[in-house]
Amino acid sequence: MDLQTKIDTYLAGDPKIPDDIVFRASQMFNSKLGKFNFKRKGGAKLPSMSQVGKPFCQLHAEKLGWPKAPESNSFRIKMLYGDMTEVIAVAILLAAGVEIVDLNKRVGYKTPDGDYINGELDLIIKDGNGYSLWDIKSASRFAFEKKFASYEALKENDDFGYCAQLFGYTKAEREETPEIKAGGWIAVSKESGEMKIVQANPDDEESYTNKIEDTINRYKEATEDNFVRGFTDEEEFFYRKPTGNRKLSMTCSYCSFRYTCWPDLKYERNPKSKSANAYHHYTVFK
Ligand code: SF4
Repeated sequence: MDLQTKIDTYLAGDPKIPDDIVFRASQMFNSKLGKFNFKRKGGAKLPSMSQVGKPFCQLHAEKLGWPKAPESNSFRIKMLYGDMTEVIAVAILLAAGVEIVDLNKRVGYKTPDGDYINGELDLIIKDGNGYSLWDIKSASRFAFEKKFASYEALKENDDFGYCAQLFGYTKAEREETPEIKAGGWIAVSKESGEMKIVQANPDDEESYTNKIEDTINRYKEATEDNFVRGFTDEEEFFYRKPTGNRKLSMTCSYCSFRYTCWPDLKYERNPKSKSANAYHHYTVFK
């Protein structure tokens, strides 16, 4: 039985979470809640596995130590939501009879040049004699329906580098578990509570790990003099007519480095719109 069928069958019955699983989940919950107090350390020599698949301009800006846009006061609570979702997903998987053999394990990927890219994988599942590696992602309704619509949709829209992360972990873990293969993602909608399995194609491992190695080589060469933006700004339209303004692409508007990357950036409301929420990051604002 595949993972999705196991989850669906469990939830469609009279689902219960046994006491031993509640206890295990509560320990996970404690350790994740404690992360609220951690301060993020900067200054790592190379990007981590969860960063390495992001747009290269963001990695470059990080290396240059560009100042980041301040995070909102609620940012750390938002991060905790993701962690709590992971606890719930693990409890449901265990209760559904899924055999989880490793959780939140630190791994290091050694490149041919001897560099290490470190990270923490979410879970390894044993199914018969096979082992597969999975990441749990909490998602907004939009991301759940669009980004996690399928593996192909995720590959097309992977600004967070989820694919490189999964295949990088898989290759890193292979030293200890030679038969492991990439499983995919267990996406949980933060709004509806739905769980969806998005299966990766293990045959893509080589192309993604080659990309990781290329990124690391490029990262080592990155200096103040060779920064290149990965995205352009876009003409703004209102009811299909150009407004004369230009605004950031979706990726740039969520990037922490946007104010350094685009020094004249203005966060303003679209003057033509009556909506109170029509705020955008403008590179040209008339
Ligand atoms: S603002 Fe855009 S172009 Fe600049 S680093 Fe961020 S994603 Fe790249």
